Amino acid sequence: MTQDALRSALLDARVPRYTSYPPANRFSGAVGPETVEAWMADLPACADVSLYVHVPFCRRLCWFCACRTQGTRTVAPLAAWLDTLEAEVALVAERLPAGLRTSALHLGGGTPTLLSSEQITRLGSVLAPILNADAETEVAVEIDPCELDEARLDALKALGLSRASIGVQDFDPVVQAAIGREQSAEVTGQAVRWLRERGIGGINFDLLYGLPHQTEARLAATLDEALRHRPDRVALFGYAHVPWVSRRQRLIPEEALPGAEERLALSALARARLLEAGYVAIGIDHFALPEDSLAVAARERRLHRNFQGYTTDGALALIGLGPSAISRYPGGHAQNAPATGAWTEAIRAGRLATLRGHAISPREAMIGDVIERLMCDGRVDLAALARRHDAPLERLLLPAEEAMARLPGVARIEGTELVVADFAYARLLAAAYDGGLPGDSGRFSLAS
Ligand code: SF4
Repeated sequence: MTQDALRSALLDARVPRYTSYPPANRFSGAVGPETVEAWMADLPACADVSLYVHVPFCRRLCWFCACRTQGTRTVAPLAAWLDTLEAEVALVAERLPAGLRTSALHLGGGTPTLLSSEQITRLGSVLAPILNADAETEVAVEIDPCELDEARLDALKALGLSRASIGVQDFDPVVQAAIGREQSAEVTGQAVRWLRERGIGGINFDLLYGLPHQTEARLAATLDEALRHRPDRVALFGYAHVPWVSRRQRLIPEEALPGAEERLALSALARARLLEAGYVAIGIDHFALPEDSLAVAARERRLHRNFQGYTTDGALALIGLGPSAISRYPGGHAQNAPATGAWTEAIRAGRLATLRGHAISPREAMIGDVIERLMCDGRVDLAALARRHDAPLERLLLPAEEAMARLPGVARIEGTELVVADFAYARLLAAAYDGGLPGDSGRFSLAS
């Protein structure tokens, strides 16, 4: 394939982000509460597990966002959510072996900072039966700077907050108006100041390229403003326009979206500015200061990929709590009922709210390991993985050769390692390795 053909394949391909393997679109009703109960019981005592808590509410529903969340103007639904979460934690605690250590706690959503300071304090008590944190436990929260005050931050700090991810997207008012998310630079700067005043050093900014009305000049100005705050990490995502998945995105003016070539130029500009500013590129879409733990883990090839993206957390299992939360066990993945009503109904009836999932076969565990290393390191030692999975090398090598034949120029073999030519192609290569022809599905976001 010529470089032009490769570039065009990259522009056109719609492939999974591989935050899990298999991707969530392969989940089915074959996994229910009983399977998950067995997976929980099988966890070895004293293993490391991480917890994810999904807060499914926002005061505003930004048009670009495809997160599972619902709008609320009052705190009443949050109080009811906390009551149900307490019941869910009790059900989970009864089923888990004793002695598990919590390596990470991630509060996501939705808008976790919609919880009042009192509710955040109560959340700590609600989680207590399954929270076994120590000084090494990473506690992270997703922050909407427009829904934050110092009392909330104090309550989060008391919970052990060590990392915060701030949704920025773009600072330009025209772009913000077109995506239904107005957020001044001042309010974002204030959130950063408040966090740093409390000694919370691990700050991430989420930025998006490919937004309506975004130009190179506007994106450059956004990067200047973002870099003024020197966040430890930057997640730079391409806006995924999938209005057939997220109805809110129908409000986005499609005619103002940059075309494929412009998306690539915006992505290249942002990448160059971040590298110039001293950040290290991590995987397909993250950047970190060289001393940040994500950059250190990338150098030492200890990165992992989970539903939140890249992580240093190598826990054996991830337990998701709240509506739509996804859990990962050695045996497979499980997702809670996405609707708050259905999740509440299941928990109140005294059963886990698992609606679907996927039990991982030995073959899938092997492919999943190959794909995780490709997405994290851009290379994978097939011989080492074959040994770990007690499989002949040919079983891992054959799909690699097929993928390279399908996408010439995307990867090469060095000794027993499969090496992606450029991280930009990692998703394409992963999809080809997985047996799917890139570009064969309209359900996923663009690979660029
Ligand atoms: S971007 Fe954040 S605040 Fe906006 S709808 Fe999504 S989760 Fe809610």
